[in-house]
Amino acid sequence: MALDLNNYVESIPDYPEKGIIFRDITPLMADGEAYRQATDRIVQFAKDKGVEMVACPEARGFIVGCPVAYELGVGFAPARKAGKLPRETVEAKYDLEYGTSALYMHKDAIKPGQKVLIVDDLLATGGTIGATIDLVEQLGGEVVGCAFIIELKDLNGRKRIKDYDTLCLMEY
Ligand code: AMP
Repeated sequence: MALDLNNYVESIPDYPEKGIIFRDITPLMADGEAYRQATDRIVQFAKDKGVEMVACPEARGFIVGCPVAYELGVGFAPARKAGKLPRETVEAKYDLEYGTSALYMHKDAIKPGQKVLIVDDLLATGGTIGATIDLVEQLGGEVVGCAFIIELKDLNGRKRIKDYDTLCLMEY
């Protein structure tokens, strides 16, 4: 039976700072059936896209994306913050509310022409996913889809990724 996955996300007001409602997916991860159904829905979305790699930004992206890669039988490419990857990397900068940040990927993480599915827990402004797409494309990968558990509609992240086939399992 299909679960209502909305029941497995906790909303925490004023975390990590005043005015932010933090959408916590740890209850979903804590329930084996809910975690499996969320994974399965992303796998279904990806199935006919010829995905050869899954790429995800740290850290919650890994939790959502790794079981998808396993189920699809493809590899996994991590996009990480500065100083976490030991070999030569490419860099993508992106804007935060105050200042900028950057994500990195190993230069050989994606091979030119590979079809890549990008996964994260949540789409807000789209900055994080935009940087991850940038990394994959710098390496010559083809982004064939983006998938999220949660979309925060008001922050308009969809606009930034309008050219990519996108799945969000729930919205706020
Ligand atoms: P953005 O780059 O603005 O699209 O933000 C997306 C990233 O920030 C995701 O990797 C989320 O894990 C995290 N994030 C942003 N806003 C929230 C929120 N309200 N609750 C939980 N995580 C969030």
